[in-house]
Amino acid sequence: MYDNEMKLEFLSKSNNEAFARITVAAFVAQLDPTIEELADIKTAVSEAVTNCIIHGYENTEGIVKIKGKIIKNNVEIEISDTGKGIENIELARKPLYTTKGNLERSGMGFTIMESFMDEVEIESVLGLGTKIIMKKKIKKHKVDLSEEDFASVGGEY
Ligand code: ATP
Ligand code: MG
Repeated sequence: MYDNEMKLEFLSKSNNEAFARITVAAFVAQLDPTIEELADIKTAVSEAVTNCIIHGYENTEGIVKIKGKIIKNNVEIEISDTGKGIENIELARKPLYTTKGNLERSGMGFTIMESFMDEVEIESVLGLGTKIIMKKKIKKHKVDLSEEDFASVGGEY
């Protein structure tokens, strides 16, 4: 059903955040996104992965999983941990809500994900883990000239 899929698994170490963000960007690049669309996706991935590391596993060692799917020009990214889970999802989504207020967290992670992606779903079970599903449509910005069009413009772009 999907046009392309990928899976990524890595240890919940903070230096893997950059690895995750860059790898997802490389996967999405096949849709020829704008720099801005790519930056939006990288930021959203970075927020979700950071959450797995610092909240899900609370800086202990665990596995963060990412699944990337492409269907036509839509990207779907699933980021999950098997850490402690979220007690109240509705509250967690709220801007400025954080359970780690003393540790320079601003509580804006989910708000950022929601503003940069078209859809953000949160699934979480206390003690079992959290899965974030984010979707974004990549706009077609290329002029796709068919051979006929090419001929009609005199064979020159
Ligand atoms: P910021 O992202 O601005 O540094 P934050 O991480 O606290 O701060 P959000 O990313 O919006 O803010 O997350 C809100 C809250 O949801 C967190 O404080 C945490 O309690 C909970 N949370 C988010 N992701 C997870 C996760 N993967 N596992 C467990 N709890 C989570
Ligand atoms: Mg966060």
